[in-house]
Amino acid sequence: MAQECFLCGDENDLIEVVTGANISIVCLKCAEKNSFPRINHPTNEQISRANRFLGVNERLMNEMRRIHKPDKVNNELKKIVAENIKPGEYKDLVDNFHWNIQQARRFRKISQKQLGESIAEPEIVIAMAEKANLPVNKSSCKL
Ligand SMILES: [Zn+2]
Repeated sequence: MAQECFLCGDENDLIEVVTGANISIVCLKCAEKNSFPRINHPTNEQISRANRFLGVNERLMNEMRRIHKPDKVNNELKKIVAENIKPGEYKDLVDNFHWNIQQARRFRKISQKQLGESIAEPEIVIAMAEKANLPVNKSSCKL
């Protein structure tokens, strides 16, 4: 059905507003002029027009959010860990021992250096252990 503003007959930018007990179609100009309470469901045309005027920055931000999903980062991390630790490689150690070391250390709020000093090991050993990077000669590893 052909729609037009019931006040001025304009056929553009029509919205539904509450006029007394009724819902009427008016143009945006008349709605503004009369301060009619609006019923908020914009037409597809209005939505597409709004999207068309999305700023470049807004579009870029949306794109960045799409690319840099936290899930993706986590999966990347898991992949790196999986590639670097082969199952059974450190079978005498608990699973994810490096995470355990790091989390236990962070829980105590001490640095790698402080942890190293407290167990008489160089800081670099702590740093390596937290990366699951143990000495190649495992038989000599006293961890
Ligand atoms: Zn109007």
